[in-house]
Amino acid sequence: AMKQMATTKVPEVRDITRIERIGAHSHIRGLGLDDALEPRQVSQGMVGQLASRRAAGLILEMIKDGHIAGRAVLIAGQPGTGKTAIAMGIAQSLGTDTPFTAMAGSEIFSLEMSKTEALSQAFRKAIGVRIKEETEIIEGEVVEIQIDRPATGTGAKVGKLTLKTTEMETIYDLGSKMIESLSKERVQAGDVITIDKATGKISKLGRSFTRARDYDAMGAQTQFVQCPEGELQKRKEVVHTVSLHEIDVINSRTQGFLALFSGDTGEIKSEVREQINAKVLSLVMDLKSFPGLDLIYVLFIDEVHMLDMECFSFLNRALESDLSPVLIMATNRGITRIRGTNYQSPHGIPIDLLDRLLIIATSPYTEKETRQILKIRCEEEDVELSEEAHTVLTRIGQETSLRYAIQLISTAGLVCRKRRGTEVQVEDIKRVYSLFLDESRSSQYMKEYQDSFLF
Ligand code: ATP
Repeated sequence: AMKQMATTKVPEVRDITRIERIGAHSHIRGLGLDDALEPRQVSQGMVGQLASRRAAGLILEMIKDGHIAGRAVLIAGQPGTGKTAIAMGIAQSLGTDTPFTAMAGSEIFSLEMSKTEALSQAFRKAIGVRIKEETEIIEGEVVEIQIDRPATGTGAKVGKLTLKTTEMETIYDLGSKMIESLSKERVQAGDVITIDKATGKISKLGRSFTRARDYDAMGAQTQFVQCPEGELQKRKEVVHTVSLHEIDVINSRTQGFLALFSGDTGEIKSEVREQINAKVLSLVMDLKSFPGLDLIYVLFIDEVHMLDMECFSFLNRALESDLSPVLIMATNRGITRIRGTNYQSPHGIPIDLLDRLLIIATSPYTEKETRQILKIRCEEEDVELSEEAHTVLTRIGQETSLRYAIQLISTAGLVCRKRRGTEVQVEDIKRVYSLFLDESRSSQYMKEYQDSFLF
């Protein structure tokens, strides 16, 4: 399985959907590295921050190779230096196949469950068990197609279709939905077809050996594919990924699998988890009989300084487990108090946990880099900026924060559109700069007027 995992082609770019476009990191499409894992100055939406991107590239390779189980990474640096962006870059490079669960440290504080239960669930959501199944595929020449319409008068869409293949000399009841698809595809006597017994998928072996468009009008169940011989082998292997959390919920008698949809999973008994761990581990150990079982996983915890002492001990213990995800954490705190104690520590993380982390540091951006990032965000948000407006915005980014400057893009774009302009000018930037306070002006304001606020 490990070999299988290493050779799995991991897609470099994940599809960016319309919904993601508005996200703060939607311009990030990867880490922007070349084949030798060297970062390009500007690539895949990433700008600068070369040393940390190089380090993140190594982590990415280790995750892909499956060599880093139970390891943890901390990305540390000032606010707005791209820590979350780098974590997203790793997620994008891993592709949709690898579960990448992201959460903020503060999310574990909820009334519904204990902090450690919430962390436990996050860990288990981040552990994917990849199960490769061999499905039974019947291949043969179609000898006869026969459609029996029922006497109910409901038309050709309902009925029973029987196919005979030379190989099996058996008749398959393919169900009513197949009829329409079959007739559309014009499967004829003499065609060589395959039937996947598990999914009901039918493939027609094309004589031309080229792959035609998937035929999916009736839904995945009745998919027809012109299938070259070589691809047949691949199709015999069906790969599912389920997270340990899903297995937990399905097996916890009190909840039932519907809880997966409502998200209302409650606390899961530790015996259930132990049994599942034992089972999954025994499958993984026994690779010979389960050649297609992989564990692939990443958990990202942002604002990790929000966790307290109890959570940190949980993390320490959880990382020891054989079933532990790759943990990536981020923080913008320097030396600060560890929550739940009176001790100070770097990043508010206990020394014994810090000691086992791979730490990646991010550093502030140069003016040129800030300019470049803002340019990428403008393209992402479809906002045109005049040269001077770009310069003013860059200055704002340098003097206040990158994130504040990014926020001004869409607001300035709106102001510009309201005055029927097509290109954001310095005036538009000034306008939104005066309308919205950055952090330091906001604190200044609070200090000046604190007497008139309620406390
Ligand atoms: P905080 O400590 O406040 O959480 P952070 O270090 O996680 O900050 P991000 O949220 O990653 O900072 O960065 C702020 C914004 O700038 C985001 O929209 C991010 O995508 C973008 N950004 C940061 N660094 C880069 C970079 N090197 N290339 C492209 N975009 C970047």
